[in-house]
Amino acid sequence: MHNEHVYVGLGSNQGDSAQTLHCALTAMNALPDTRLLKQSSLYASSPMGPKDQPDFVNAVALLETTMPALSFLHQLQTIELNHGRQRKAERWGPRTLDLDILLFGNQQFDSAELTVPHSGLSEREFVLVPLFEIAPTMIMPDGKPLAAWVAKCSLEGLRRLRPSNQR
Ligand code: ATP
Ligand code: CA
Ligand code: CA
Ligand code: CA
Repeated sequence: MHNEHVYVGLGSNQGDSAQTLHCALTAMNALPDTRLLKQSSLYASSPMGPKDQPDFVNAVALLETTMPALSFLHQLQTIELNHGRQRKAERWGPRTLDLDILLFGNQQFDSAELTVPHSGLSEREFVLVPLFEIAPTMIMPDGKPLAAWVAKCSLEGLRRLRPSNQR
């Protein structure tokens, strides 16, 4: 079976976010035909969209899987629900756990259910900075280095949490 390298963006701003992100990493590693290869530090970030909510804790993980992309997405959604994620109408509102597929090998998807590369990838510092931490030489789908994407994004509101906060 063909192995793909998958980058997943993790976010949480409800409950014990650091703990939830660590549980989510463990749960992703435990998925069938999947293993966790790398994980970034945790970062704190100001919320995007509605501002009347706590700061987020974010991270990016690299996994390898032989699962098809849609099956992998459905597995991530199950992990979200297992961590108390509630499906709410408000976009970018508070949540216990958000798992987004950022990149799935070189595969591209363009439906409402699955858009890959992730539509927010190019402008979100809370995704690009942790991604850069674990993939500093990555070349992005537009042929430019990830470093150039990072250089263009605003780092305002983003801070790396000390390793002691990571448990
Ligand atoms: P954003 O996608 O802008 O970060 P969000 O994470 O708040 O917003 P959700 O409410 O978590 O959005 O998800 C809405 C829908 O997005 C999901 O039902 C899912 O099918 C779809 N989706 C599309 N592309 C992706 C992707 N690359 N990763 C995860 N979900 C995706
Ligand atoms: Ca596994
Ligand atoms: Ca998201
Ligand atoms: Ca999401």
